[in-house]
Amino acid sequence: MLSYQHAYHAGNFADVHKHLTVFALQRSLLRKKSSVTYIDTHAGRGFYPLADPESQKLKEHENGVLPLWRERTSLIGNKGNDESLIGEWLSELSRAQGAKSRKLTHYPGSPWWLAHGLRQGDKLHLFELHPGEQQHLEAQPLPHNVYRHHGDGLLGLQRMLPVITPRLCVLIDPSYERKQEYAEVVETLAFVARKARHAMVVIWYPLLPAGRHQSLLDGVKQAGLRKLWCSELRLHSPQKEHGMYGSGLLLLNPPWGFDRQIENVMQHVATCLDDDASHKGYWWVGE
Ligand code: SAM
Repeated sequence: MLSYQHAYHAGNFADVHKHLTVFALQRSLLRKKSSVTYIDTHAGRGFYPLADPESQKLKEHENGVLPLWRERTSLIGNKGNDESLIGEWLSELSRAQGAKSRKLTHYPGSPWWLAHGLRQGDKLHLFELHPGEQQHLEAQPLPHNVYRHHGDGLLGLQRMLPVITPRLCVLIDPSYERKQEYAEVVETLAFVARKARHAMVVIWYPLLPAGRHQSLLDGVKQAGLRKLWCSELRLHSPQKEHGMYGSGLLLLNPPWGFDRQIENVMQHVATCLDDDASHKGYWWVGE
């Protein structure tokens, strides 16, 4: 069963949370010269015209990226503090809008965000299982050191380890259409931690009233993994029975000071999103 299509959700608050964090992580990795292999296990299409019928159906970007885009002049002017990252991210986002467009017409997915910061010796591997989504991804103009794979991302990631570059950064962003995906992610993370001890891994999970993400968090603790930090951006409290009320990220081996930076960035994002929105960052398992 592969019915999920990210185009229905492109640019929503969870995308902002995930892509801003990945952008910050890449900025941090770029401070050192040694090469990085990036692996995006669930790539999606890579690029989303917001006027497409899928994105227009729910218009989730209107409660996600759009409020930040509207504030971009003041956010881009913000310099020298953690929040200035939002301005840098929005400047990159303007590059995705085509020649001098002042309107937000397109929203780029994780492949674009990861590809934009690639250097000569870096590599980016993208996995996508859905044939239609893969076809869209193949059509994207991406640099020569981006490799697209049609297949299962969690298996593909495991087969790639260890990588030849000194550093590894992984994004695991499943749609969780199947409940077993939480357990599969735990197994994969434990495998990555064994094969590539210093790998930085970002795992996205939804905050749903059923609280399924707790099995993921408990699983990684039981697997004996260390240095796990969580960032959770909530739009509101879980009042309703259905529907995602928040977006979670579990980070393995985040760089030093990254927790404080993301905490400050996401507090600011929350104030732009909604009066009820909030962010909580916490160490799930320390050193
Ligand atoms: N990471 C993308 C982004 O941030 O722009 C969004 C990815 S979307 C949440 C999840 C994607 O994973 C969907 O495009 C879906 O087709 C794909 N998918 C589902 N199961 C997969 C699997 N086992 N391996 C690789 N891709 C898979």
